[in-house]
Amino acid sequence: MTQHHQHEVVIVGAGGAGLMAALYASRGADTAVLSKLYPTRSHTGTAQGGIGAALGNLEEDRADWHTFDTVKGSDYLGDQDAIEFMCQEAVPVVYELEHMGLPFSRTDEGRIAQRRFGGHTNNETKQPVLRAAYAADRTGHMILQTLYQQCIKNEVNFYDEFQVLDLIVDNGKAVGVVAAELATGELHVFHTKAVVFATGGHGRVWEVTSNAYAYTGDGVAIPMRKGIPMEDMEFFQFHPTGIAKLGILITEGVRGEGGVLLNNDGDRFMDVYAPTVKDLASRDVVSRAMFLEMREGRGINGQRYMHLDVRPETVNKYAELDKRINPDGSEYRVTAEDILGKLPDIVDFTRTYLGVDPVKQPMPVQPTAHYAMGGIPTTQYGEVVIDTKSTIMPGFYAAGEVACVSVHGANRLGTNSLLDLVVFGKQAGLRAAEYANGTEYGKLPDDAADFTRQQLDAILNNKGEEKAADIANEMKETMTDKVGVFRTEEGMAEAFEKMLELKERYQHVGVDDHGKVFNTDLLNTWELGCLIDSAIVTAKCALDRKESRGAHAREDFPKRNDDEWLKHTLAWLKDGKVEVDYKPVKITKYEPMERVY
Ligand SMILES: Cc1cc2nc3c(=O)[nH]c(=O)nc-3n(C[C@H](O)[C@H](O)[C@H](O)COP(=O)(O)OP(=O)(O)OC[C@H]3O[C@@H](n4cnc5c(N)ncnc54)[C@H](O)[C@@H]3O)c2cc1C
Repeated sequence: MTQHHQHEVVIVGAGGAGLMAALYASRGADTAVLSKLYPTRSHTGTAQGGIGAALGNLEEDRADWHTFDTVKGSDYLGDQDAIEFMCQEAVPVVYELEHMGLPFSRTDEGRIAQRRFGGHTNNETKQPVLRAAYAADRTGHMILQTLYQQCIKNEVNFYDEFQVLDLIVDNGKAVGVVAAELATGELHVFHTKAVVFATGGHGRVWEVTSNAYAYTGDGVAIPMRKGIPMEDMEFFQFHPTGIAKLGILITEGVRGEGGVLLNNDGDRFMDVYAPTVKDLASRDVVSRAMFLEMREGRGINGQRYMHLDVRPETVNKYAELDKRINPDGSEYRVTAEDILGKLPDIVDFTRTYLGVDPVKQPMPVQPTAHYAMGGIPTTQYGEVVIDTKSTIMPGFYAAGEVACVSVHGANRLGTNSLLDLVVFGKQAGLRAAEYANGTEYGKLPDDAADFTRQQLDAILNNKGEEKAADIANEMKETMTDKVGVFRTEEGMAEAFEKMLELKERYQHVGVDDHGKVFNTDLLNTWELGCLIDSAIVTAKCALDRKESRGAHAREDFPKRNDDEWLKHTLAWLKDGKVEVDYKPVKITKYEPMERVY
């Protein structure tokens, strides 16, 4: 039996963005959060390194430096009005989190401590600046726990382990969602005035990824099935330091604390590729440098990984060479205790997964699929926009990694995602509640769960000529080889064709479990459909963009081409075909320049 519920605002996703939206929406409207995971298991909880804000607690810093660094990091594709808004809001929002009780690491004077991160600089000296506020290497965990407690206090309604499978649209307005309750397999229809999607990313499209199993692009596929476009899907970030083969993330905070990348000759190669900021260049630059080193045979033992070295003797050697100093002017030096105190989880992971002790041995690392710059197009207030003229879709909002505001453009800077979650989660929550207060409930179709039921029945009734695992493996391998750090016309065309073939074969995937209780077999298969849709659009948008910019690096078009390509991609998936169009980038203060690190 399909059950029915009514809430003025429904938020899909209980990560940092969803919970911040819920907190703000619940102050003005009856709010519910639906999450396929128990809230505190959301991927935000794995974020390690920090949240960017020009607090200037340890040295001079300014919101406009943060703005410029983000624009430059985005390879000029980010919308500058939204970036400026985010970097200005960063300072009050970090203090707001502090006042909610978030246990930040502290300076000796008791202020919020800050560390260096890739691409964040003092715009005058061009040197890395202490901008990332952190709670050891558990910053995301602390944000998630803090926001969850606040939501409980504010009596937000939680529907845990409810997986949303459809967005209900009436007359161009979002009026509800359909969810499956994992424990029972029952479908639930939620009638709402406003829906906020905060469902995270889709990194599971690739083979080696830092992303959680739940990162299956549900929030990309569901809206596309309702005719809503995705923005800038060709831009997917590969983080330079995933644990080799496993992909588990080693935070950039390791390099922020002075760690360096070394090749098989024991050379620090980043000074060749980014002479000024070296290991703290932006992620696209570092990942490409690692790839080129490996291609030239300088991977460790000729293999496809490099060393990340944070042993105190190495950090101190390079700190001396770089003449790195502390804010008080003294020489920057670290001890094993400093490393253990600032990066306890990293030390723990590498000891557990690799048997490597990072204060005594270098860590084997390779680029890992990490972050979706693209996603549901929104304004800086979380309102979803659905065409090249930025027409707002009433009642539909998005925030966090699933959204594309766009503040990250072609490449996100580290610490700017946690910031994006809280800044734009708050805006989306405020706007959703405001909208809900000024409108009536829309009309639900007679059988609102019909489309969802059809999708699930199709999987349940298949004879199973195809296996989900085979299709998933072929997708991941192809996307890693052909739509990874470096790309070519031929490779991307092949990948696009392959994804269309996999979409066809996916129609014949069956499941072994035909029961109702915790049928993860069924829901994982449904998620594979979302991953394939995300991959198709990614491959097509990448194929069409004939330039290199940020994370999209083409061997056949190695240069950025502002004359033709300084524009955002919008892509629609219609009857298995991808339609692509473009909209302008908002440029306010910073004319595009060559990016030098
Ligand atoms: C290992 C790692 C480390 C990182 N470190 C940093 C860092 O130090 N600094 C930084 O700025 N960024 C970091 N990032 C990036 C950042 O953490 C993420 O981009 C961000 O946490 C995403 O938050 P979110 O709220 O958008 O999504 P999530 O936190 O992933 O939440 C998504 C939510 O959506 C729900 N959901 C998804 N699909 C459905 C569905 N169909 N139905 C119902 N619910 C659904 C999930 O249950 C979950 O609650 C890191 C990312 C990773 C993977």
